[in-house]
Amino acid sequence: MSASKQPASSRATVYNYGSINIDHVYRVPHLVRPGETLSSTDYQIVLGGKGANQTIALARAGGRVAHWGQLGRTDDWALETLESAGADITDVTLLEGSSGHTVIQVDDAGENAIVLFGGTNQRFTSERIEALIKNTDNEGWLLLQNECNDIDAVIRQALDRGLKVAFNPAPMTPAIRDLPLTELSLLFVNRGEAAALVDLDEDSDADALIRALQQALPGVNIVLTLGSEGAWRIDGERHDPLYQPARPVQAVDTTGAGDTFIGYYMAALQAGRDDATCLERATAAAALAVQRAGAATGIPVVDEVETFLQ
Ligand code: ADP
Repeated sequence: MSASKQPASSRATVYNYGSINIDHVYRVPHLVRPGETLSSTDYQIVLGGKGANQTIALARAGGRVAHWGQLGRTDDWALETLESAGADITDVTLLEGSSGHTVIQVDDAGENAIVLFGGTNQRFTSERIEALIKNTDNEGWLLLQNECNDIDAVIRQALDRGLKVAFNPAPMTPAIRDLPLTELSLLFVNRGEAAALVDLDEDSDADALIRALQQALPGVNIVLTLGSEGAWRIDGERHDPLYQPARPVQAVDTTGAGDTFIGYYMAALQAGRDDATCLERATAAAALAVQRAGAATGIPVVDEVETFLQ
């Protein structure tokens, strides 16, 4: 049996220490002004958060993913969404208090304004983190973003435990630089995150970003995504970087493109695919996602990606 045909049940788990947000999306004629009361013409509640999106993408890709998360008790419907995608939700717990959530205004010009409240995503206790790490199968991967608390402790404990760590520093903050980044097995960055990490302008070209990343993080494998300009896999051992152009598609909504990319990349890696194939599959999945509205709702299932790749 080739590595790529490995059944999901025999693969090492990806544990995703990830945010789950409830997104409240209001359609408005213009973004609300100070002191103004504005009627909304449409309202939707959808599941969001980079963590949840990446878990859904990984699971829809056929990967084996266990989500570590925390939700407010009244938002238990979100568990069903994660589970029906195929994720293991044993370690998503329900707490008193408010879930992580956003209030999003979208106006007629497509502009948005977002209020984010971290809620239960920011309330992991050190006891819970220790217990989660202790229960891992140390053949596995830890995947994480920057939307839950104490990521420094989670990364260090996972490394001590022998897990491979894949990190997506989103949203980017100055404290990211103090993390043990050179010990990561994989770092996923988009243009803005890469530029902030190495102190370059956002409009720097790919070559400059790649060179600066290699210099700043020697030995680390990095995946750099550049939207419609495609993606690079930068080898920690200094082989030439691999390039995968983006698929030429008509983008409708690029929210969640990076999350779809990361989920599909991790699932391909877990299935034993080579780096070029991981890039190719992640790029195809993200191209399907950007042609659809919504983040989690736009993430394709694996059969759609296989068909697109033919
Ligand atoms: P993020 O969503 O984190 O900002 P990017 O914008 O870099 O990340 O997008 C991630 C990946 O999604 C890209 O590498 C590309 O494969 C795909 N993608 C994003 N925007 C487009 C687009 N307009 N057309 C085709 N693919 C896209």
